[in-house]
Amino acid sequence: MPELYADIIVDISHEKLDRSFQYRIPEELRDTLEVGACVVVPFGNGNRQIKGYVIEIQEVCSFDPARTKEILGVVKGGVGVEQKLIVLAAWMKRNYGSTMIQALKTVIPARQSVKKLEHRTLERLMNREEILSLLGESQRKKQIAKERLLQELLQQETLPCEWVTSKLGVSMQTIRSLEKAGALRIVSTESLRNPVKLAAQNAGTQEQRVELSEAQQQIVDEVIASYDEGKPDGYLIHGITGSGKTEVYMRIIEEMVSRGRQAIFLIPEIALTYQTLLRFYKRFGDRVSVMNSTLSPGEKYDQCERAKKGEIDVIIGPRSALFTPFPNIGVIIMDEEHESSYKSESSPKYHAREVAEQVALLHGASLILGSATPSLEAYKRADTGEYKLFNLRERLTGGKLPTVYTTDLRQELKEGNRSIFSRKLQELLADRLEKGEQSILFLNRRGYAGFVSCRACGHVMKCPHCDVALSEHNNGTLQCHYCGYSQKKVNTCPKCGSKYIGGFKAGTQQIEEKLRELFPAARTLRMDGDTTRTKDSYERILSAFANREADVLIGTQMIVKGHDFPGVTLVGVLAADLSLGANDYRAGERTFQLLTQAVGRAGRGTLPGEAVIQTYQPEHYAVRYAALQDYEGFYGEEMLYRELGGYPPAAHMLAVQVFSSGEKKGMDLAEKLADSVRQELLSQAKQEKQMGTGPGSRGAAEPRVIGPAAATISRINDIFRFAFYVKSEKYDILIKIKDSLEEQLRQNPSGTETVQFDFDPMNTM
Ligand code: ADP
Ligand code: ZN
Ligand code: ZN
Repeated sequence: MPELYADIIVDISHEKLDRSFQYRIPEELRDTLEVGACVVVPFGNGNRQIKGYVIEIQEVCSFDPARTKEILGVVKGGVGVEQKLIVLAAWMKRNYGSTMIQALKTVIPARQSVKKLEHRTLERLMNREEILSLLGESQRKKQIAKERLLQELLQQETLPCEWVTSKLGVSMQTIRSLEKAGALRIVSTESLRNPVKLAAQNAGTQEQRVELSEAQQQIVDEVIASYDEGKPDGYLIHGITGSGKTEVYMRIIEEMVSRGRQAIFLIPEIALTYQTLLRFYKRFGDRVSVMNSTLSPGEKYDQCERAKKGEIDVIIGPRSALFTPFPNIGVIIMDEEHESSYKSESSPKYHAREVAEQVALLHGASLILGSATPSLEAYKRADTGEYKLFNLRERLTGGKLPTVYTTDLRQELKEGNRSIFSRKLQELLADRLEKGEQSILFLNRRGYAGFVSCRACGHVMKCPHCDVALSEHNNGTLQCHYCGYSQKKVNTCPKCGSKYIGGFKAGTQQIEEKLRELFPAARTLRMDGDTTRTKDSYERILSAFANREADVLIGTQMIVKGHDFPGVTLVGVLAADLSLGANDYRAGERTFQLLTQAVGRAGRGTLPGEAVIQTYQPEHYAVRYAALQDYEGFYGEEMLYRELGGYPPAAHMLAVQVFSSGEKKGMDLAEKLADSVRQELLSQAKQEKQMGTGPGSRGAAEPRVIGPAAATISRINDIFRFAFYVKSEKYDILIKIKDSLEEQLRQNPSGTETVQFDFDPMNTM
């Protein structure tokens, strides 16, 4: 048996991770020693002995074997928090392709001295009557921001300044003017290291507890019963916004906390609203904390220390909150699980869903995913019984699902309407303006990468091999970004011969102009990349619209998230096709999600809502099922497409991404690596055939290589980008390929080129 060596870290802190030491594994431990194990090793000169953790086991000794010391023994006892994190890092390294150091740095927080942050609070100085008279004055003068702040001051004696400027959309100038008037003073408070204190100051009255509906209660009971039987499980809650999911999450967390367990509540970064925080604070008080990108590394470290010491039970945060070092997690909840921000875009390129499964496994915790439009990945798990599925079908806050009309833009053109608004949408807009109700116009630009389609028949130019849209390049070609297929630009539609074929040009600004031409009296607000450059402009636009300062809000996908507008009774989707033509295999799924969310924006209040979906492809299943608000129907068809194309989650896909300062060097390396994978797959297939274990010809199911091709954005900051893809039904085959590519790169280190791996990518590069 060959010798085995273990890499050991003796100080498990982020800064020291680069310093590992190699030790020989004694014979009696060779079969049993595992990554993550806590061991005792001799250290330094003399006979000092210290504890360390195994982070890697290998057959090669990087130093003089004769002088490499031996591990003395394994520390027995329960598995500590550190060990779990190291085991998790090792799993991530293997499954996503990164170095062990990168993986460890992802899971272990950076230790940093905590800088005291300056926070400011607004304190009310006037009594209610005085505030009321100021309020009357600002209402007369139509000082809307001032009015908002005064109304808050009527309710609360102190307000966090940060919240007032960001969430309430009130400028410092307005605050200062009220300070001058003697209505309030600005007080600097020293660091609030616990961000929840912001909520604490405003928690005010105790919340009222609602009685759970039967459907809600059933979920809570089932999850808790399985947990108590020692059978923690995975669950998917499929329920529209407002169907009571958050209430269910909170009840389950309460149950876990009462059992001495901790809970991780994951949300996409953008969805962390002050309201959610306040709700959790009211329920869990100081035992809840928040992790998000606005925290400094020091503050994050601080949260981790508090978690380790048992000072908190619940953490709310984006994907990185998964690594909170809780001793004994009872439940991990992942809200809005379909959001693409759950995937890390830097190495290791992990998906929070899969890592959450691992963390749940390590802790014996339950895992709950929730969404109104579940990802195919999650729903497939529910479909195959891996997760248990719950449905919440009713909106508890009132408001019905809107009536949806689909208008065919080809037909509009045929009948002489060249406007970007269909006649149905024009008619409904006029009606809303007359009644003084609000509308949202949504331009779905997500993933739009210059695809080409026919305005007469709706035909989209697609790759003959990959069944995804081709992108228009300025060199006059149409290209596929999976396989590199390229063809000349077309001037007439290959399907119907029309010359109305080309890219889609209209932007939000143009839509605003056209709307004003049609309805000169309409008050409009626009929300897109241009109007939201500054940090609080986003909130400002939303609160202006919520305050009914405009009749129509025009925007990109930003407007379909978060915020509820009870005054909105009409939603118009201007070109549903834009996201359908995205050049990757998730285009249909994203379109369905966006359309469903957009349509759901109408009729949240007491008035019924309507929605118009304008499209060149009314027969496309993503459009049809979104209009019907039928998730199951969509899932069935989308899954067929994934199976035919060998796309996740029907199969697995590994993207190998090459970055290089030289265009030719980059492409050469990508081609070399892709060739070596082809060779490897060939020899594997041969072996299988000889051994008679081969599956024979399986068509789409056979592992195969696609590409390489230049990335959609082929150059960023003078770095050229290339990618190729490997598809296989078996994840393990892809891991093997990744390992051998890594080995190949280790043996022939390339100069300036770097290679990254992305398993089951969410985006084409
Ligand atoms: P979701 O997370 O699915 O959007 P929430 O849990 O936030 O749903 O519930 C939406 C609204 O309905 C909230 O205002 C919540 O307080 C309320 N709510 C939730 N459950 C109930 C219930 N059983 N009875 C009455 N109101 C409820
Ligand atoms: Zn055509
Ligand atoms: Zn292709």
